[in-house]
Amino acid sequence: MLRDVHRKRSVRERIQALERDARRLDPDAAQRTALRDAASAYTEQFLERLGELPAYRPGFDNPVGALVQPFAEEPADIEQVLAILGSEVDAPGINPASPGAFGYIPGGGLYPAALGDFLADVTNRYAGVFYAAPGAVRLEMQLVGWLAGLVGYPAGTAGGDLTSGGSIANLSGIVAAREAHGVRAADLTRRVVYLSEQSHHSVGKALRLAGLEECVHRIIEVDERWRMEADALAARIEADRRAGLLPWMVVATAGSTDVGAVDPLGTIAQIAAAKGLWLHIDAAYGGAFLLCEPGRQTLAGIEQSDSTVIDPHKGLFLPYGSGALLMRDREHLAVANRYHANYMQDAQRPDVELSPADLSPELSRPFRGLRLWLPLKLFGLAPFRAALEEKLLLARHFHACLSEQPHWAVGPTPDLSVVTYRYVPERGDVDEFNRRLAAAVQNDGRIYISSTQLHGRFTLRLAVLNFRTYLEQVELALELLEHHALRLVESA
Ligand SMILES: *Cc1c(COP(=O)(O)O)cnc(C)c1O
Repeated sequence: MLRDVHRKRSVRERIQALERDARRLDPDAAQRTALRDAASAYTEQFLERLGELPAYRPGFDNPVGALVQPFAEEPADIEQVLAILGSEVDAPGINPASPGAFGYIPGGGLYPAALGDFLADVTNRYAGVFYAAPGAVRLEMQLVGWLAGLVGYPAGTAGGDLTSGGSIANLSGIVAAREAHGVRAADLTRRVVYLSEQSHHSVGKALRLAGLEECVHRIIEVDERWRMEADALAARIEADRRAGLLPWMVVATAGSTDVGAVDPLGTIAQIAAAKGLWLHIDAAYGGAFLLCEPGRQTLAGIEQSDSTVIDPHKGLFLPYGSGALLMRDREHLAVANRYHANYMQDAQRPDVELSPADLSPELSRPFRGLRLWLPLKLFGLAPFRAALEEKLLLARHFHACLSEQPHWAVGPTPDLSVVTYRYVPERGDVDEFNRRLAAAVQNDGRIYISSTQLHGRFTLRLAVLNFRTYLEQVELALELLEHHALRLVESA
């Protein structure tokens, strides 16, 4: 009896000792204020210096520094921790927040989106399931509905899912298409998927992850503006049919990552509909341009697709971690992601709205809607429309100015906001010259541009999509390109 009392007492003492340590995980109001103030001061300093910070700082040879030190048992001071962040994380490599970020598809980072994440993370609502967080789910469904409406899908049937990015959205869309068309292992090698050489590599990866690698992949030719040749697509489908194959899906691109090309969506949609194929449109980069009138015209036909991917972390200027899959008929997504779990029985009621968990491979997930909802609410739609039209015009302006300069071979007038170009010197290897030019501009650091290979030619790109990029930075880019090209010519 007495021994029991002793044992209980010693267990209680042990628990209380552990509790004293465990409570350190839950700072009090004063501690929270200190942490928040320090983090806020850090971000303010970052933003205030953004104009002077390089858009790129070479990072391959960055010393490993503090990031290899083992985690300690004891707490560290926030100032020390932020100093590590400043020197080891936020200094080397590409600075996507920089106004001079023209590489790849530039990132965003709207400030209220960070506050949206902050609010979502502190309150930590369980946004995957309606029962657990009806408000969070409705908020996300409102965003999905808005994006599906932008695409032009009918409100009654449309739906979708907010994802971590375009790759996952492509994967989820392709899985839904696979289920809708009953594509099974038995006839995989007769099933045909149609792509173009401008399709994003995440589509090939998604096909592989979806178990569809053995489908026949047809790479349809592109025209001189890098757009899929619709006639060639139609002819290829017919030829495949006659050969006894089973064409089932076309993946068109609305804004290719490489050159910003938009496939002829309306014509491709008619072909897909006439021949009974699923049409998936990868508009990860281009989709947001639906918010402005010139973009709507360029993307006309997108509304006839079965599924579309849009990356809010590109054209809606959000920080990384935001993609969206949109479906003409959300039921296909529900069928592909159906699940059952005994322990979820409280959460399921047939008459309530679908939850993200019903439409996505994810169960637990961040409440990622808030990072988009907050900026849309706080800014309103007008500045988004303006910024997107402005970025289109900035790319055209860059294209027009560079086309007038001697020695520049400039690609087609951009469909969206990516321009391709290369300098053609009087003498010497053009590829090698442009490789050195890209390196010179990157090492200068005031802007960052990336390069690609187009039909075997080393080609420079300028992608205008950072919301902080204005006329000033585009004119600086023109100036720097000319300056570094001339220096290279002189030193040759
Ligand atoms: C960026 C991009 C993707 C991949 O999206 P992530 O968000 O990087 O995963 C897919 N397709 C296109 C056209 C893109 O531009």
